[in-house]
Amino acid sequence: MSASLLLTHCTQIVTLRGAVPRRGAAFADPGVIRDGAVLILEGNIAAVGPRGKVEALPEARRAEKLDAGGRIVLPGFVDSHTHLIFPASRAAEYEERIAGTSYEELAHKGGGILSTVRKLRRAPREALKKRANDALQRFAEHGTTTIEAKSGYGLDAASELTILKLQHELRKTQPIEIVSTFLGAHAFPPEYRGAGKRGDDYVEFLVHKLIPAVTREGLAEFCDVFCDRGAFTSKQARKILTAGRACGLVPRLHAEQLAHTGATQLGVALHAASCDHLDKIDRADIRALAKSDTVATLLPGCCFHLGLARYAPARVLIDDGAIVALATDYNPGTSPTLSMAMILSLACTQMRMSPAEGLAAATINAAFALGRHKQIGSIEVGKFADLALFDLDDYREIPYYFGVNHVWLTLKRGKPIYSRSPQ
Ligand SMILES: [Zn+2]
Repeated sequence: MSASLLLTHCTQIVTLRGAVPRRGAAFADPGVIRDGAVLILEGNIAAVGPRGKVEALPEARRAEKLDAGGRIVLPGFVDSHTHLIFPASRAAEYEERIAGTSYEELAHKGGGILSTVRKLRRAPREALKKRANDALQRFAEHGTTTIEAKSGYGLDAASELTILKLQHELRKTQPIEIVSTFLGAHAFPPEYRGAGKRGDDYVEFLVHKLIPAVTREGLAEFCDVFCDRGAFTSKQARKILTAGRACGLVPRLHAEQLAHTGATQLGVALHAASCDHLDKIDRADIRALAKSDTVATLLPGCCFHLGLARYAPARVLIDDGAIVALATDYNPGTSPTLSMAMILSLACTQMRMSPAEGLAAATINAAFALGRHKQIGSIEVGKFADLALFDLDDYREIPYYFGVNHVWLTLKRGKPIYSRSPQ
């Protein structure tokens, strides 16, 4: 494709233009342009609007044309919470959970996160890279153009650095943008669990050794902590995130997934970019989030996969004015999906978000959670031409047809990274 591209005959362009981040009533307007066109120059959006207007521009007449054939166009999904690099599925545990063993019981028996850690430490580097590369292709097939990716299945210096370095290499060899987060505080590693070794020693190791090593090499932008029952305490999380901040890493948190621990209030106090999960938050947490710029990132794929009845209170969060984002939490233990469309279906059906709210949460608010709202997350002049075209007539059909991928074409900075039919 040439440097200029005219994307035309789009039944709906869901622009998500307007105020950033989306809060309250502003969530309701997805900024749809009917019978529209988008002009792309050098990978950026040069014009977007009604077809007649855009097609009349002199640059549009010179551009290569791509007929969308009446399909709908959205900003590429921004998946702001993934655990991209892991060595294998945990399908056997899935079967055990179906038979009645809880996620926390499995973790207690040495399964869960630690079983993935043991496998990752032994896995050949190239095998990890290939698995991640294959997943990134699947992300593109499902309309996702940017992901956040966490470390956290290594939990020792060598393996954590390997994960972050692999993310760095993948950034250069494939088109999806990867935003790196250091999650050394995902779980306490096996070597810090026995007699004589305490969790606080691991926290000291993270604060004094690993965080400085990660930042010395510029391997991450964010620092995350799994602050929950059976994981890190609020006090430990504060120490780790403060040390990360001092090294230039912006905090974010896994908060209130299994139990209410005060992680959300901590996140707000530390001006975290996001607090994620939030299945067990209370009214005071919601009020604190609503008054803050900390994004409430909801991960309904986890509740679905674990078969839980209680989802995060998206409706109250939105109505009270919190910034809500949606993400897959792609990981082998609790949410092995990379389909943002499936997450939208869960958000709409199980959490009563409207399709328009869901799309804003999966694009512009997720971009805000990653500090990239000026470049991505909406279809507006000057932003990257990161677009997903769906073989549908109406954006509401994306969550409606649950479990079916309708992506027809994905563009990253104006270039096709997935096409259902040959270009
Ligand atoms: Zn997670």
